[in-house]
Amino acid sequence: MRTARTTLLLLSTFLLSTNIAMAHPGATDAKGGHTCRTNCAKWGLEDGEYHYHNGNGSTQTPTPTESPNSSGDAKLKADKIKPPAKGKLSVYFLNVGQGDATYIKTPAGDDILIDAGKNEAGDVVVDYLKQLGVDDLEIMISTHPDADHVGGLDTVLTHFKVESVYAPKVSHTTDTFKDFLLAVKKEGLTIKEAKAGVTLPLKGVKASFVGPVKAYGDDLNEWSAVLHLAYGTNAFLFTGDAEKKSEADMIAAKKTLKADVLKTGHHGSVSSTSPALLKAVSPKYAVISVGDNSYGHPAATILNRLKSANVTTYRTDLNGTVTAISDGKKISFLKVK
Ligand SMILES: [Zn+2]
Ligand SMILES: [Zn+2]
Repeated sequence: MRTARTTLLLLSTFLLSTNIAMAHPGATDAKGGHTCRTNCAKWGLEDGEYHYHNGNGSTQTPTPTESPNSSGDAKLKADKIKPPAKGKLSVYFLNVGQGDATYIKTPAGDDILIDAGKNEAGDVVVDYLKQLGVDDLEIMISTHPDADHVGGLDTVLTHFKVESVYAPKVSHTTDTFKDFLLAVKKEGLTIKEAKAGVTLPLKGVKASFVGPVKAYGDDLNEWSAVLHLAYGTNAFLFTGDAEKKSEADMIAAKKTLKADVLKTGHHGSVSSTSPALLKAVSPKYAVISVGDNSYGHPAATILNRLKSANVTTYRTDLNGTVTAISDGKKISFLKVK
């Protein structure tokens, strides 16, 4: 391991000194900055954040720029939703069009946000959180750097005090991801690594990451942070966009996957919710977070697979924001439509 690592470092240093572009997939922006990916020798130095390589090995962090993409989609607006029930676990699968955003209020009153949809969904998520009376977030989770998950998180960070931010140790070269990293930095926070085995410090519930189990190179969906949340005898599994490889690895690693409610992976794409995962989770309910899209999400195969397994399925495109309320024994659902 050590030898391989040293070789890799030497190789990366060589590449850095000869050709920065070679060592850094993705474009360097006009200011000479970029976001390092996992194969960058500098990754880990500043936890993968956006920075410059200015040729002599030192790094600087620029000030955040105005997000050019947050002008907003006129059609996208927040549904009217009900505030959380006191002393219960309330899970809101927020309707943010195509993308994912889930807000959780624990029975002890802690606030968790998993993803915030696309850039233009940022204001919508802020609106939802205000409707729900949220004043701060104990935990923010960025499942993976794709724009339909990480897009709105920078806007949320500028509107709410956030105590801890968790994300898997993978990076991306997009402006959207850079905006998120800069917003985290501006709040004086350091990203905590989301990976299998990491437990969230929350009272009254058991919340642990069960994925990612491994590193998945450039396969961003497979890197998704997967959270298992248990309250009493009820449990939820939030999968981000985790696909078959990650699903198989979590099963092989004997992670606790069983749950009453499954947030279906990757917007109901055929790439996720393998028969093996469905068997391991054996949910009573599934929620698909999806909007207008050209990818064919959700796939008929997955809808049929859930139906054959007697899983009651809700969809944010058809039902609007879907709310699940657990008293620790039973789960009830509210939907907008
Ligand atoms: Zn996605
Ligand atoms: Zn994705």
